[in-house]
Amino acid sequence: MQTLRINVASLLRETAGGAREHPVAASAESVAAMVPEVLARSPLTGTARLLRGPRSIFARVRASAEVALECSRCLEEAGITLDMLFDAEYFPTIDVATGSSLAVPDDEMSFAIDRNHELDLAEAVRQELLVALPMHPLCSPGCAGLCARCGHNLNLGPCGCDPEQDGGRLASLQVLLDDASTKRQPRRGG
Ligand SMILES: [Zn+2]
Ligand SMILES: [Zn+2]
Repeated sequence: MQTLRINVASLLRETAGGAREHPVAASAESVAAMVPEVLARSPLTGTARLLRGPRSIFARVRASAEVALECSRCLEEAGITLDMLFDAEYFPTIDVATGSSLAVPDDEMSFAIDRNHELDLAEAVRQELLVALPMHPLCSPGCAGLCARCGHNLNLGPCGCDPEQDGGRLASLQVLLDDASTKRQPRRGG
């Protein structure tokens, strides 16, 4: 299931102001293919509102997908909903009335409508998915993470490590060092 391609031949024949609303969808597999960090979970679904402009078609896309990412604290799977709302502009490469070639402006959110008058939302959706990805995904807001000593997942309960152990060992090492430096100090006077 992938309906990110929309034939806009009839909309291109209309005057500026003509509009259409289309459902958009991409399978969980194609979402995972677009964003390598995610483990697929559910398909992307949403709508694209297309508005005929004087030279182009404006697309306003609203879509969401639930994906699984690695929790940044405990490394377990974290279910995250990626919500997207973005605008992109699509320019015809062929004049639908005359068949002559048209130039596409060279800027970031401008895309080409292909020679079959098909508008492909995939690249814009891919870019927006990357933007929507959280920097530090969490499986839950209160994820306890992993024990720094043994790697135990602390969400499953405490591990056997003594949280005081590191501090205790360092403290006794400090005592030994202090002791040694005192011994090495030359005696004053005599
Ligand atoms: Zn976690
Ligand atoms: Zn531990």
